Amino acid sequence: MPEKKPGKLTMEKLVSLCQRRGFIFPSSDIYGGLSGCWDYGPVGIELKRNVKEAWWRSIVQERDDMVGMDTSILMNSKVWEASGHVTNFKDPLVECKECHLRWKADDLKENKCPSCGGALTEERMFNTMFKTFIGPVEEDAAVVYLRPETAQGMFVNFQNVVSTSRKRIPFGIAQQGRSFRNEITTGNFIFRSREFELMEFEYFIKPGTDAKWFDYWVEERLNWYLKLGIKKENLKPYEHPKEKLAHYARSCTDITYNYPHGWSELEGIANRTDFDLKQHAAASGKSMEYFDDENKEHYIPYIVEPSLGVDRAILAFLCDAYEEEPDKDEIRVVFRFHPDIAPIKVAVLPLSRKENLAAFAKDVYKTLRPCFTTHYDDTQSIGRRYRRQDELGTPYCVTIDFQSLEDNMATIRERDSMKQIRVPVAALKDTLLAKLAGEDLFVLPEGGQIWKE
Ligand code: ATP
Repeated sequence: MPEKKPGKLTMEKLVSLCQRRGFIFPSSDIYGGLSGCWDYGPVGIELKRNVKEAWWRSIVQERDDMVGMDTSILMNSKVWEASGHVTNFKDPLVECKECHLRWKADDLKENKCPSCGGALTEERMFNTMFKTFIGPVEEDAAVVYLRPETAQGMFVNFQNVVSTSRKRIPFGIAQQGRSFRNEITTGNFIFRSREFELMEFEYFIKPGTDAKWFDYWVEERLNWYLKLGIKKENLKPYEHPKEKLAHYARSCTDITYNYPHGWSELEGIANRTDFDLKQHAAASGKSMEYFDDENKEHYIPYIVEPSLGVDRAILAFLCDAYEEEPDKDEIRVVFRFHPDIAPIKVAVLPLSRKENLAAFAKDVYKTLRPCFTTHYDDTQSIGRRYRRQDELGTPYCVTIDFQSLEDNMATIRERDSMKQIRVPVAALKDTLLAKLAGEDLFVLPEGGQIWKE
């Protein structure tokens, strides 16, 4: 029999595993899907919540200079006129004269259709904001847009936040939320969708200090990924050349990630200067000035904005954590997620479904469930259940066997090393909490033992 060898991650493998294990499904799957739209399943939603929570904790909760917001998706259309989106949020579109597929001209290496080789039409600009109507009448005056970014909601609330939060510059406003872009071409799984979630913040600073804060945030944001286990060699900052900057930016650095489809933008960090606040001041007639009471001066603040797609972050965490390794004659597939990101923290696995054992295991499950996202699994052999939990990226499995009924102990199996310890059931919760916080497996609670490998 040919020996099975661990392989490299491909997007096909990832899409199929994500679907099989309940991470991510195509939207409206039974109707053939909807291009650029995805549904997060029972496991995927836990992963997504953890990624968003880790970001919120580091950006808002653990800082004194940041507040959060949740602004509406639909906004007054004047916002998008003032911001420049109605005029500038456009991509160059070309269409194949043969097969009529449409492409974003920027993405093409040659001047022919990547699908059939046919000739292409001239470029025309295509606004990628989704339009809809507010109220029952579909007329021009009722046009509203689905926001393509959450940033504008924070700019237009600048004075509301200054006057209610008592924050002084430098400070930031952070937000997470749905955004929509009618992308000409979508693809690479959840990398480019038409509906996605953003996590972004606007950091308001004194003009002249922008270069310093820009560098600070590039560094901070890189460190966030490293702290959550992303491999250093898979992250690279990319500085945009001046002539390619967006209409609002003075400088922009992308944090790029080495995805299976190549190095691509994961997060964009832009020095937006005072462009946005000035635009909104001019269009609304409302002052966007800030009064610096220490130096007794008025100014319109500059803004540094780190903007990250939740789904692109999830894709990076999935790709980075994925590993195949030889395991006897088989291949073990495992997601080595950082414990903070792992969708399920603990799985309780009774060795058999026998009544007394099941009752004991269910009790253990009930004591752990309030503290961690916990799975209970009593189907199939224990080996297969471990493999399933490896594919879900569960850091610890708790196994209950017949001896547990006598000595009131349970086995903890660590995902990454597959090593095991045995600890008193009364110490399980605290032991798991300590391990999830990074403690070595072999630091044992009182009465604990190192178990067989
Ligand atoms: P790209 O060049 O890939 O189109 P962009 O430069 O237009 O991206 P920004 O406007 O800087 O992207 O958006 C900020 C972040 O939003 C990106 O770094 C990315 O993480 C995320 N993002 C943007 N467009 C999409 C999309 N269509 N699907 C998923 N995430 C997206």
